[in-house]
Amino acid sequence: MPPEQNNNHAKMKTNNTTANTDVVLIGAGIMSATLGTLLKELQPGLRIEIFETLDNVAEESSAAWNNAGTGHSALCELNYTPQKADGSIDISKALHITESFEVSKQFWSYLVQQGVITAQSFIHSVPHMSFVWGDKNVAYLDARHKAMQAHHFYKTMQYSEDRQQLAQWIPLVMNGRDAKEHIAVSRMETGTDVNFGALTRELFAHLQKQDGVALHLNHHVDHLRKENNEWIVSIKDKKTGEEKTVRTKFVFIGAGGGALPLLEKAHIPEASGFGGFPVSGQWLKCNNEKIIEQHAAKVYGLASVGSPPMSVPHLDTRVIDGKKELLFGPYAGFSTKFLKQGSYLDLPESIRPSNILPMIEAGLHNVPLTKYLIKQVMQSQEDRLNELREYFPDAKAEDWELRIAGQRVQVIKKDTHEGGVLEFGTEVVSAADGSVAALLGASPGASTAVSIMLGLIKTCFKEQITGTEWQDKLKSMIPSYGLSLADDEALFNRVHSETKEVLGLAG
Ligand SMILES: Cc1cc2nc3c(=O)[nH]c(=O)nc-3n(C[C@H](O)[C@H](O)[C@H](O)COP(=O)(O)OP(=O)(O)OC[C@H]3O[C@@H](n4cnc5c(N)ncnc54)[C@H](O)[C@@H]3O)c2cc1C
Repeated sequence: MPPEQNNNHAKMKTNNTTANTDVVLIGAGIMSATLGTLLKELQPGLRIEIFETLDNVAEESSAAWNNAGTGHSALCELNYTPQKADGSIDISKALHITESFEVSKQFWSYLVQQGVITAQSFIHSVPHMSFVWGDKNVAYLDARHKAMQAHHFYKTMQYSEDRQQLAQWIPLVMNGRDAKEHIAVSRMETGTDVNFGALTRELFAHLQKQDGVALHLNHHVDHLRKENNEWIVSIKDKKTGEEKTVRTKFVFIGAGGGALPLLEKAHIPEASGFGGFPVSGQWLKCNNEKIIEQHAAKVYGLASVGSPPMSVPHLDTRVIDGKKELLFGPYAGFSTKFLKQGSYLDLPESIRPSNILPMIEAGLHNVPLTKYLIKQVMQSQEDRLNELREYFPDAKAEDWELRIAGQRVQVIKKDTHEGGVLEFGTEVVSAADGSVAALLGASPGASTAVSIMLGLIKTCFKEQITGTEWQDKLKSMIPSYGLSLADDEALFNRVHSETKEVLGLAG
């Protein structure tokens, strides 16, 4: 992206004329909030226009009840530590996720210290635990614990098969359980629950107070096209029906599930072949205060064979708007919508000549996923309760209600060997000149938003990020910036204890 030209904030005109800005952020979820905040810290004079189709920020995937609020740090999620053919445990992915979350915590701590956000409103300590049953799975968890504890990130990880100890840690999971069942649990006290909706709202409230930033709610971005090295973004004001355009040097398509259709409209060669496969989610939410009080952990199990990694069942303590809550899930569903408040035409309308083959190939290579989704969609409430009872044997139907979670659009992309592959992570797709970038996919998502957006800045603001001004600022906000916490135990210990203190966390 070319450097900033001037600092005057041009207000959007309301008579169909084109306004100028430096940056357009499409969508008001955690990703745009994070990118906008980072950019404004790095270059306070930057002019930023944010367009959100809904009447408030953080109403889609970033809303607290639309995601699980797990501060994904690979402490309890077993899909990040696969067992290799020789029986050893591969912790490389876990190290990467943990490092990313530590980066998020550093940036959030910086913002807390600046008085921009308040830690208590969005982050709380909740132990992260992995729970398995059966000899094979117990052996896996034992091996995983040994492999992880050898690294300084996970030195404090506890492991137990002792039923008395487990009854203390997770009474709901242990009460009424078959005494002969071989079970094991690992536990990290440093786990967190994060209300990404509250965090997003605080970040936008702060951004809106900045000179040169304007947030436009009820504004739907319809189209974007390139003209003379700038992007012309077409927007519809949903309240007045008025159509507007804004001319900008850089566009971030942070539209969550709505990112793929907009990326397709940008017609950049880098986006060719990308498709999306929507998976919806549901939770069981506990409505019995006595039960909610008895649990204080995020307890993650193993995903069943054929199911996607994000469908790992978990019994989660949440803290939402100051209140302790308990949820179990997710149960997967299928809908052709790309956003919870999207259209059933989202999936069919996203199919293009360039992505139809990758999409078909990805479908053919993911038959177990299709079978899993069909099975999930066919589930009755009693089936769901039976799944819950694997984690909470005494669960009663009257204590739980079904809630619809957010929509995830899994990335499908071209692959030279398989034709098309379905991915479960996130992917930043950007134009070669760095003038537009989109975030596709959803996992581990919000927890790693800061690292994802730093990667995007490195790609799209190449010139500015190599300058000493941005480098110094980044190091002051994120002390480990440019260094590796995974390789440097002393740095990790220092940074971890600083963020623990500022964010008021345990462990
Ligand atoms: C069931 C589920 C569980 C999850 N659990 C976790 C978890 O435990 N931990 C974790 O870290 N992450 C989790 N995630 C992922 C996390 O929620 C997402 O990665 C994150 O919220 C994505 O943020 P976003 O800003 O990209 O998208 P969103 O929050 O979806 O924001 C996108 C915004 O763009 C707007 N928009 C869309 N199209 C347009 C348009 N054309 N014009 C204007 N505005 C538009 C939308 O209305 C929306 O407000 C989970 C997700 C789901 C669905």
